[in-house]
Amino acid sequence: MTEAYSNARLAFASWRDSVPPEPYDPHLDLVNARYLDGDRLAGVRDAGTRFGRVVVAELGPVAESYQQHGPELDQYDGLGNRVEAIRFDPGYHDAGRLLWASELVHHAGEPGASFEQATSGYLASLEGEFGHMCAATCTTGMIRVLRRFASDAIADRYLPALTDADYDAALRGAQFLTEVQGGSDVGALASVATDHGDGTWRVSGEKWFCSVADADLFLVLARPDGAPGGTEGLGCFLLPRLVDGTPNGFSIRRLKQKLGTRSMASAEIDFDDAVAYPIGPTTDGFKIMVTAMLNTSRWMNAVGDVGIMRRAYVEAAGYAGHREAFGQLISTFPLVRRQLAELKVDWLAALHSTWHLTALDESVDLGVADDADAGFYRYLVNANKLACSLAATKVVRGAIEILGGNGAIETFSVLPRLLRDAIVYEQWEGTHNVLTAQVLRDLGRLDMTGSVLDRTANLLKGITDPELGTIAERALVSFEDISTEIRRCVEDPRHGALHGRDQLERLVAAHQVGLLLDAAGTAGDLAMELATAARLLTGRTLDRAYRPEHDPDFADTLDAVLASDLD
Ligand SMILES: Cc1cc2nc3c(=O)[nH]c(=O)nc-3n(C[C@H](O)[C@H](O)[C@H](O)COP(=O)(O)OP(=O)(O)OC[C@H]3O[C@@H](n4cnc5c(N)ncnc54)[C@H](O)[C@@H]3O)c2cc1C
Repeated sequence: MTEAYSNARLAFASWRDSVPPEPYDPHLDLVNARYLDGDRLAGVRDAGTRFGRVVVAELGPVAESYQQHGPELDQYDGLGNRVEAIRFDPGYHDAGRLLWASELVHHAGEPGASFEQATSGYLASLEGEFGHMCAATCTTGMIRVLRRFASDAIADRYLPALTDADYDAALRGAQFLTEVQGGSDVGALASVATDHGDGTWRVSGEKWFCSVADADLFLVLARPDGAPGGTEGLGCFLLPRLVDGTPNGFSIRRLKQKLGTRSMASAEIDFDDAVAYPIGPTTDGFKIMVTAMLNTSRWMNAVGDVGIMRRAYVEAAGYAGHREAFGQLISTFPLVRRQLAELKVDWLAALHSTWHLTALDESVDLGVADDADAGFYRYLVNANKLACSLAATKVVRGAIEILGGNGAIETFSVLPRLLRDAIVYEQWEGTHNVLTAQVLRDLGRLDMTGSVLDRTANLLKGITDPELGTIAERALVSFEDISTEIRRCVEDPRHGALHGRDQLERLVAAHQVGLLLDAAGTAGDLAMELATAARLLTGRTLDRAYRPEHDPDFADTLDAVLASDLD
């Protein structure tokens, strides 16, 4: 009896020791090497390897230490002055110091470092510190907004501190769009802005979801007096937290008690004549917020999802390789292998599409994207957020299943926290339905349907290796159906409103299959994993006639996907 207990605990302990392995993993290196070379690739590798080890050795344990102790609101100081301050566990700031020192935010200061940012964001997400990832993402978005649209005076005043890699010296940014009457329907916003006549404005209104409520600077959408309704009447304003050392016309009603991202403060905030600086023309607020802020958040959101998936897969595969049931390792059960392979396919597919998006993001931010790239970016930034955030929740849930009852225990693994955070990732920065509607609208209004479909098809048609080409051909057969359905969804909005989401998920998957196959052609030891991942993804998502139970190679395909992780 005693021996049985201690053997099981030893197996747990050796699993824990094995997880996570080297955080800067070979698949991450492969995607970086697909888009970068020379000194830049070497720099990303070097920084990623170093930061990855910091994440595992320091960031993870620190993040774990304060999860039970969330932020608290101090509306007043000891003398009864309103201060609207947020108090955090000291460990929260220790984690922030580690993340900021990775230069994740610092790199946002100049365009051309999207891969550096994505690599740090992915690695930080392995440990699920999504409180700080939210702040880093909002600050990155704000930096881009100020770089592209602010007056020189505002940019010079705030950008140096926003981009500071020293957490204690840096300013942090937040973005407040959502109001109680709606988050998706941004045009329904009721906050108002009044021109004060001296270059400053005054903003009043209620914001219902204000993450990073402790930020030093808030970007807020509000409607200038007399502006038309809807999104076209909105202006973008920068509000400093403090004016002359006191809260700038705002009061925090309360902090939200959240399902996930609990370490970070999300609040309901009332603004009453808060001093505000207009950013860009006050008629362009929505456009500015979407192009520079929300698109950045949607990209970084997907980066975080990929990190979540990697961690969940690693936890589950490691556990399966150590846990015994019925006298054998659970990794030897065919169903467990099948489940693990599915998790890995989702992670790899999301990694490749998100790194493709990262390349597009960089060229858009540098201002060098041609019309074709800019159009495809516009499509992919929305479609990829939808696909990756759906996949992340699915992957964490699947990993929890592999851990059995232990998967549901907070002290046993990071998975329960990852699941909660992944669900939040699905909601913010645009829900799935709203992103679908946006993509279908863009495809129709900007006449992009043909170019998006052609680009995806051409990727598959460009696979020339005979073995990989067989998979690409299968995907192309299904792609004809996907193209027809997408066209119908765009041309018939009533049809698209009901069926567009399914078809969009298939379209993203087709692109991911193409990327996996394209990468497999030059992936060396990883080629087989990528090719078989593409094969599984084609069967599961694209080819509606595929029946795994009729596929004699199905079990071998699963084994090939898992080859580098499990015997
Ligand atoms: C933890 C957390 C932190 C957040 N932080 C911030 C923040 O810092 N700043 C900020 O501005 N916002 C923030 N948000 C708000 C978030 O962006 C919104 O919740 C999100 O955009 C959805 O808006 P909503 O909640 O009003 O949902 P609604 O817009 O009411 O949507 C409800 C449901 O209706 C569906 N729906 C809506 N429109 C359509 C349509 N046209 N077709 C089909 N379905 C539709 C949606 O998909 C959703 O399923 C945060 C949210 C969370 C959960």
